Parts: sequence; structure tokens; C-alpha cells
Amino acid sequence: MVIGLGEKMRIEANRNLCQSYGNCVVIAPDHLDLDEEGLVTVTSSDVSSADLETVQAAVRSCPVHALRLVDDSDDGNGSHG
Ligand code: SF4
Repeated sequence: MVIGLGEKMRIEANRNLCQSYGNCVVIAPDHLDLDEEGLVTVTSSDVSSADLETVQAAVRSCPVHALRLVDDSDDGNGSHG
């Protein structure tokens, strides 16, 4: 999959898969953290183009593929919440 810079990307975490390795948190601490259960939590889901490489590395670092980047650029009017 090729991700174009400038597209709006968002992190999704599957806490059911997370094994608390913490690799992703070390790589992308601005976006990911471990909660009190030791499971990954997304602290900032929107990924700017400046952060894209870092977040991609974090996603790849997860041994159990609990993280993924989804294209959030085609949600129409860009409403939030
Ligand atoms: S690298 Fe994967 S398993 Fe480890 S904390 Fe992050 S999401 Fe969880």
C-alpha cells in the first residue's frame, strides 16, 4: 500500500490484539500510550504528514499487528465529533 503525503490518515488500535509490548509507544509517544491495563491507547489519532513516517514505523513495529493506519481523507465535510 502506498500512502501519499498530504492525505489525512488516522491511527486505529485493536486493543484485543495488543500484547503490551510498548514498541509503538516508544516510537510514537505523541500518538500512542499504554493505559493502566497496559494496553495501547491512541492519544492523538490524527496523523499529520510530518508525523506520517513516525507513525508508519510504529504501526510496523507492532509484533501482533494491533495497529493500522486508515485513510480518513474522504469523509466528506470533515466534521469533527
Ligand atoms: S506495539 Fe502492538 S502490542 Fe505493543 S503496545 Fe503497541 S499495539 Fe500493543
